[in-house]
Amino acid sequence: MDADVLVVGAGGAGYPAAFRLAESGRRVVLADPKGELGGNCLFSGCIPSKTLRELGQISVRARRLLSWPGPIDFADLQRQRDAVQRIRFRQHREELREHPGVTFLKGSVELLGNGRARIEGPEGITEVSAPGMILGTGTRVRRPDFPGAELCLTSDDLFSFQAPRIDLPSELVVIGGGYIGLEVASLFAALGSKVRILVRSDTLLRNVDPELVALLQGALPDVPIEFEAPIRRVEPAGRRRRVVYLVDGQERTCEADAVVVAAGREPVLPPGWERTGIRLDPRGFVATDDAVRTSVPGIYAAGDVNGRAPYFHAAVRESLVAAHNLMAGNRPIDRMDYGSVPVTIFTFPSVAYVGITASVARRQGIPTVEARSPLSEDSRAQMVQEREGEVRLFFQPGNLRLLGGWVLGIGASELINEIGLAVSCGLTAPDLARFPDQHPTTNEAISKAARTLL
Ligand code: ADP
Repeated sequence: MDADVLVVGAGGAGYPAAFRLAESGRRVVLADPKGELGGNCLFSGCIPSKTLRELGQISVRARRLLSWPGPIDFADLQRQRDAVQRIRFRQHREELREHPGVTFLKGSVELLGNGRARIEGPEGITEVSAPGMILGTGTRVRRPDFPGAELCLTSDDLFSFQAPRIDLPSELVVIGGGYIGLEVASLFAALGSKVRILVRSDTLLRNVDPELVALLQGALPDVPIEFEAPIRRVEPAGRRRRVVYLVDGQERTCEADAVVVAAGREPVLPPGWERTGIRLDPRGFVATDDAVRTSVPGIYAAGDVNGRAPYFHAAVRESLVAAHNLMAGNRPIDRMDYGSVPVTIFTFPSVAYVGITASVARRQGIPTVEARSPLSEDSRAQMVQEREGEVRLFFQPGNLRLLGGWVLGIGASELINEIGLAVSCGLTAPDLARFPDQHPTTNEAISKAARTLL
């Protein structure tokens, strides 16, 4: 089969480009072994985990505000998780039908070099030849190598479509202080489990501004965290699990109904990637520039597989950047703005950030002017009695151009979009101050913070 572009992987990095290219008349082959669009985000990541989080949020508020102590049936939550995934799979199938220029093959791609590839799936083997290629093969769960790691659950066990039902653990140990570990710990604590986190190093969220991490840590009193506690092994203890870990060189143990290990994710490279000549970065991700180009002309790598901004929304934008540059004959007419990708850690409360924040500015010697608005004063926060947290904005001195911001607390994941858009458009404190953020939404805290500088 001859195509103009082969898109490898049908996640956020893959299908937006496939559709865009087909809309402009290109013949596109899109392949994924899942046979569905949406990638790991939909199959086992953001969508299922945030579905459970939404339900967890409802139960927390119902208990706190309505004295509604009804026990949670965790099976109901898992059914709703699958139902949402089913809705979205169906929606993507309709989108695919609307794009007849995209040939979607269920199968795994092996790269053969020189613009050729072999796709093997249930329908047999297809050979594809295409001058353009977008790699969007994402990442997978990294399994640590301590003995008994196989006795631990991973995010796949909790969130994968139609994953076998699990009981809500009364006690849970989470291994790992990255965003997945924190989100899982916080979710189960909200659902009523007794949770503790064991972290190998002395920090949480290594890539996040330490000042913001400290604020978040202070806001998670339900989730005790032990630092510098490397795991020795996990072993069965009847139907439970025993975790053996080290503190100051001494072995300690704890038991729980379940152990979740969240030790990061690693890139998935399509077999045969070496034959293309693309270069990897020192961490093993595909090296790309801001135009999403790999080191080989005509081959792009979008999304998690390039490791630059491993979030679905960034993958979608990178996917479109790759499509636009392919359509321009591989000239870099479009570039990804990595400086304004909003990120949320969906704990209870959530924390979100974008652009240049306090510690990053200090480290890079960038002077900033700060503006804050505490959420204790926010009307919506008061309505649901979640008054903890703040909006903080960082501006360039003089022209008061917005460089970045963070939100801890209610609405963080929504507010950060407005802040991110303002960063990306180069707006200033007077611009933000003039905007009538809608009442009564937490967005009001943004213009309110900006007004403190005028
Ligand atoms: P992203 O957000 O970057 O798109 P995801 O991890 O959500 O990343 O999606 C990556 C998709 O790539 C997954 O659906 C996965 O099944 C698919 N994939 C991985 N390896 C291959 C391969 N060799 N051929 C085709 N698709 C692949």
